[in-house]
Amino acid sequence: MKKKITLVEVGLRDGLQNESKILTVEQKVELGKRLLGSGIRRMETGAFVRADRIPQMQGSDDVFRKLYNPKQKSLLSVLVPNEVGMIKAIEAGVKEVAVFAGCSESFSQKNINCSIEESFLRFEKVFVLAKKNKIKVRGYLSVCFGCPFEGAVSEARVVKLASKLYEMGAYEISIGDTIGVAHAGQVNSLMTKLKKVIPVEKLAGHFHDTRGQALANILEAYNLGITVFDSSIGGLGGCPYAPAATGNVATEDVLYMFQNKGVSVGVDLNKILSIHSWLSEQMQKQLPSKLGQVGLLKLK
Ligand code: MG
Repeated sequence: MKKKITLVEVGLRDGLQNESKILTVEQKVELGKRLLGSGIRRMETGAFVRADRIPQMQGSDDVFRKLYNPKQKSLLSVLVPNEVGMIKAIEAGVKEVAVFAGCSESFSQKNINCSIEESFLRFEKVFVLAKKNKIKVRGYLSVCFGCPFEGAVSEARVVKLASKLYEMGAYEISIGDTIGVAHAGQVNSLMTKLKKVIPVEKLAGHFHDTRGQALANILEAYNLGITVFDSSIGGLGGCPYAPAATGNVATEDVLYMFQNKGVSVGVDLNKILSIHSWLSEQMQKQLPSKLGQVGLLKLK
């Protein structure tokens, strides 16, 4: 039997955070409700960061509170950069948070203003609070396949940092191709090494479609046993520090591939496509998703 996959919808956080158009709390809540209505069961709803630095994430606590339903199985999470963000998350009743580290020194400095080592020191405090409050922590590693400032990133370093996050208590590590440079051969090589030190079910893939390789990379990872993938409705978002890095892989594009392959995802593609149309109006622009732009072929 083909292994089913889980999509982690990151449009509300990773997507919107990297868009210049700022949605209101009401619009974000509506987007979240529509996504949950399509069958999405894991979703990042925002980031507990300073609103003066990242205005797109303003009101993330309200968005979370309005979407969270303890009776539903949906696992909503928020990104927390440090202890301060974690305290806000606890106050809001969050049950899962995500922490974020870069795999190159330059990217870490430009993105979160500290060295890789310092970023892990910040996480230690987050993990302590998480344990105390029974909150799950997901770890993101960015620029795992290449850095916009340093170029190649060593696989050994990625494996070391991923293992470190896992040992610290992250229940899942999302391996990010933040600037969309990865190709399938590289995915095969890195994921194979990661699987040797971290159980495959604890690994997730976060791919960008910048060079049109996201689906090939996802399929490569799936064939290696990875079944959790991050995707963003409409292909919202990119990375402000990665030159020309547009494009989280679009939820609808990933869904189309797996659904037609007979792999269960548990998400309604037609509903996702109608969210794409609605969201294009809210964002006042054409969203980059390929399928969202052309729609499904109606067979007679
Ligand atoms: Mg991304």
